[in-house]
Amino acid sequence: MKMKLFAILTILTTTVMLQAQIKKGSDISPFPYPLEMLVSKDKIDERIKEAARELENDYQGKEVIFLCVMKGALFFTSDLLKEVNLPATLEYVRASSYGENGTVSGKLTLKGIENVNITDKHVIVLDDICDTGKTMTKVMAELKKLHPASLKSMVLLSKNVRSKQDYHPDYALFDIQNRFVVGYGLDYKEYYRNLDAIYILGYSD
Ligand code: 5GP
Ligand code: MG
Repeated sequence: MKMKLFAILTILTTTVMLQAQIKKGSDISPFPYPLEMLVSKDKIDERIKEAARELENDYQGKEVIFLCVMKGALFFTSDLLKEVNLPATLEYVRASSYGENGTVSGKLTLKGIENVNITDKHVIVLDDICDTGKTMTKVMAELKKLHPASLKSMVLLSKNVRSKQDYHPDYALFDIQNRFVVGYGLDYKEYYRNLDAIYILGYSD
């Protein structure tokens, strides 16, 4: 009897939690496409803590410049920096490849590199996701020309199942399948960035 009651309570709690997750997504959605949760907020928080400990270990006794690739890495950068216990400063560049086209990769534009001063500094580039790797290849090549003391990359997500991925980030928090994802900074036509977890968008152009 007790076991039955426990089972029913578990099912009810799970259903309410799932409904809350779906509701959060659908509330802010301007599109009729379904959102399927891929990485929860708790899981993101947990991995960010682990990544922070790894960086503290790898950069012991050093000052670090965290360079955020906007806009996608905005939330990731903010949460990671609050966790990292190192002397750190923050810079940013802007990269865009999708623009208003949604999920179809367009021409890559890079802005703001002329404003960053990284010569002789230890730099960690933070981006939201590494897909084909074209963005990171270009960002890293441009930054290298400024002669940093060291230059590494950390991405929140990596679609490393891609056989033709031509850049391998130094640190990746999650390896994911080749699906189009939104939330926690990642957008579809500029929307969904303000979801606090990562979702698969059940649609692509
Ligand atoms: P890459 O140059 O590696 O092919 O793509 C990198 C950029 O494309 C990322 O920084 C991100 O802005 C965008 N991108 C790639 N895959 C996805 C995805 O699944 N969802 C979203 N929202 N953006 C993506
Ligand atoms: Mg990006």
